[in-house]
Order: sequence, then C-alpha cells, then structure tokens
Amino acid sequence: MAKEYIFGDKTDWDTAECICGNHAFGDGFSDSDKLCNPGKPKKDWDLRLVVCLHCGRIINPETFEVAGENPKVGVFA
Ligand SMILES: [Zn+2]
Repeated sequence: MAKEYIFGDKTDWDTAECICGNHAFGDGFSDSDKLCNPGKPKKDWDLRLVVCLHCGRIINPETFEVAGENPKVGVFA
C-alpha cells in the first residue's frame, strides 16, 4: 500500500491539513500514543504521533506521513 501524506508545510504544523480536509483550526488534532489512543504526550513515548480528530488517521507530525488509523476516533456525525 502506498504511503499517504497529509498536506501542508512540514516546518509549520499549523499549516497541516489532513487528507480528509481537517486542519488545526477545524476539528483539529490530538497527541496520540503508539496504540493510536489520543492523550497527553508522556515521557516514555518514543515517537510523537497525532491523531486526526475527524477521520482518525494517525500522523507523524515530523514527516506528515500517515502512520495508521484509529477507527475509534473521528467521524462523530
Ligand atoms: Zn483526517
């Protein structure tokens, strides 16, 4: 499966826009642990990930690569 990347300027997270169209000023994003559960970053997290609160995509904010998906998050409608 081809890697997916969200849109925006990697040097400025405020410009990040998820493939679903969500962005930091829409539904927004949350920090996420490795199991893709939203939460506050903890010291033992070896990699910071964020989860799109609209579609549940898990995103690496350094590379803008989509690292996974959390089916429990997003699409609240
Ligand atoms: Zn999304």
